[in-house]
Amino acid sequence: MSSETVLIIEDDSAIAQFVAASLSAVGLRPVHADTAALARLELQRMTPQLVIADLGLPDADGVALITEWRRAGGAHSLPPQVPILVLSARVQELEKIAALDAGADDYLTKPFGAGELLARVRAMLRRATLSTTPQPVAVLHIGALTLNRSTRCVQLDGEPVHLSPIEYRLLERLARIPGQVLTHRQLLADVWGAEQIDQLHYLRIYMGHLRAKIETDPAQPRYLQTELGVGYRLTDV
Ligand code: CA
Repeated sequence: MSSETVLIIEDDSAIAQFVAASLSAVGLRPVHADTAALARLELQRMTPQLVIADLGLPDADGVALITEWRRAGGAHSLPPQVPILVLSARVQELEKIAALDAGADDYLTKPFGAGELLARVRAMLRRATLSTTPQPVAVLHIGALTLNRSTRCVQLDGEPVHLSPIEYRLLERLARIPGQVLTHRQLLADVWGAEQIDQLHYLRIYMGHLRAKIETDPAQPRYLQTELGVGYRLTDV
């Protein structure tokens, strides 16, 4: 990784030091703010390539902060291509989902290890780089899966997989951001429409269909991972 700047907003100094040390070890440049007020000052000074934000800050509500950043044209808004990784405690399940729905890109639940942190950071920085390239990627490769977005053809190990239109849209939505979580509400809104965001059973049923067609063992999925109570992610193993 090149020396990209990562803004860490975390009031727990032990966690902040651990995150900063993990990032420095792979050549990233961490900048630490222990309050939302300091983070705002840092953001006036520089634009990071990634933001890692704790949800429990002493001077701000994490979800409100993300909403503020993602509001187009807001005074302290981040450029939309800068990804946000949220750090949450186990007791913050609802805040975590609200943060993702407000525009955070992924989350880590404390405690987490350096390996898990760096895997998320790498995936997010890679996608941020891709999203600044002008041409949308026509063919997506995720492990042995190939999605051709022009022809809407899906292949697994070179063999065609026949998907219904809904199944295709669900898989394509997840494949656009491999490794990144999407909440139930985001998937329902994008695949079925905003008026269907409470129809959780649609997702369960169609995820079952997709797993039956794509996974060798649908009970032990390799690609379509459940994030319990949150949503799903397509892992690019
Ligand atoms: Ca905290």
